[in-house]
Amino acid sequence: MISPKIQDAINAQINAEFWSAYLYLAMAMHFEAEGRGGIANWFKIQFKEEQAHAEIFMNYLNSRGGRVVLGTIDEVPQTWESPLAAFEATLAHEEKVTALINNIYALAEAEHDYATRGKLDWFVSEQVEEEETAKNLIDRLKLIGDNGLALYMLDQELAARVYNVPSPLANA
Ligand code: MG
Repeated sequence: MISPKIQDAINAQINAEFWSAYLYLAMAMHFEAEGRGGIANWFKIQFKEEQAHAEIFMNYLNSRGGRVVLGTIDEVPQTWESPLAAFEATLAHEEKVTALINNIYALAEAEHDYATRGKLDWFVSEQVEEEETAKNLIDRLKLIGDNGLALYMLDQELAARVYNVPSPLANA
């Protein structure tokens, strides 16, 4: 059985993952409307990944005899002034998510809940990847500046991104 403290923290994280999904879906819809189908595709895959993160936590809570509580998902922004602004917002958001994961990790250690700590290891690595990817796209968009052809080419590249089921779900 999982402790009430850890259960509350994981339920809060499930909500944060769904909020992330909703944020990236809003970004996808924004860039779809702006005629940037490749960037929209990239964010649609982020949307799916975030739903998968929520599902991993839900499965975990169930496996420990806990109770999933699905709360209200707060509103998300709807527009971004440029692709660069959206990826900067993505990085800032992922840094917040990293801090949330680290906080649950610290709580799991304080509560001697080593099963939860172990489960979080995948998320710790995933956050490194999320931040690195966003930083990389920010760097490239800064280089691109207002070069329309270069932005078109990046959009084409991001159109090729495909969704892969995250390993904790694929192996479930
Ligand atoms: Mg996530």
